[in-house]
Amino acid sequence: METTKVMGKVHSLESFGAADGPGLRYVVFLQGCHMRCKYCHNPETWSLEGGEEWSAKDLFDKVYRYKNYWKNGGGITVSGGEPLLQIDFLIEFFKLAKAKGVHTTIDTAGNPFTMEEPFISKFNELMEVTDLFMLDIKEMDEAKHKELTKWTNSNIIAMAKYLSDNGKAMWIRHVLVPDLTDGEKELNELKALIDELKTVEKVEILPYHTLGLFKWENIGVDYPLKESVPPTLEQIKKAEQILGITKGLNLKTADKNPDFDPNHSCSGISNSMKK
Ligand code: SF4
Repeated sequence: METTKVMGKVHSLESFGAADGPGLRYVVFLQGCHMRCKYCHNPETWSLEGGEEWSAKDLFDKVYRYKNYWKNGGGITVSGGEPLLQIDFLIEFFKLAKAKGVHTTIDTAGNPFTMEEPFISKFNELMEVTDLFMLDIKEMDEAKHKELTKWTNSNIIAMAKYLSDNGKAMWIRHVLVPDLTDGEKELNELKALIDELKTVEKVEILPYHTLGLFKWENIGVDYPLKESVPPTLEQIKKAEQILGITKGLNLKTADKNPDFDPNHSCSGISNSMKK
């Protein structure tokens, strides 16, 4: 396959991700995110500068050495930061993966999505080589979404509908922060959206936690949720009930996910990222 010289800015790599998509996965965390979620557990990925530069081919050759671990539906997940900010790199990286039959997943918050060109043509190309989209929907109420992330959610909801219209499998995830993202009205609106979408295979609640707090201190930014505490089991169960999540946190698929780990996703990935 012909490859270009598009370089990806990689924040970090994790060889054995157990909760970033189906099966065991190699997870690539890309650098850069425009959103500023108050609960972000990876503020060090925000900057578009920095990160280690990799060509898609070199990175794929490194990652593909782990292929023997990807039986039972495993594969490669690209997370961040926000991976869609590096869509050219992503397309090339996933084309290499699909040429070898590897399962590909994107863990995204959807912020760069737009129906405008040139993005949408690139996104269409990306959909062809992406098996699963894990989409974070952080808040349904637009004003609250702006307050939480500094950005609108209208293009994120549009992205969910676009994926559905194009038959692309997705998992919807929602970070649950007591008194911030657990409003009954908004959770019901999220449920209505999920019901409208035709390709949602799983819905996950990611309980808020404070493990990434020190990272805010490291980059010298005041942590805005100092007073927030993780949700109780009861609060999680209530949210799950509203979202129609039953045993194993699955919606429509039969696969169970006993390895569910609330510490993943760009909103709370594990701290065990390795090169
Ligand atoms: S939680 Fe994810 S989408 Fe939000 S600021 Fe952090 S990296 Fe960006």
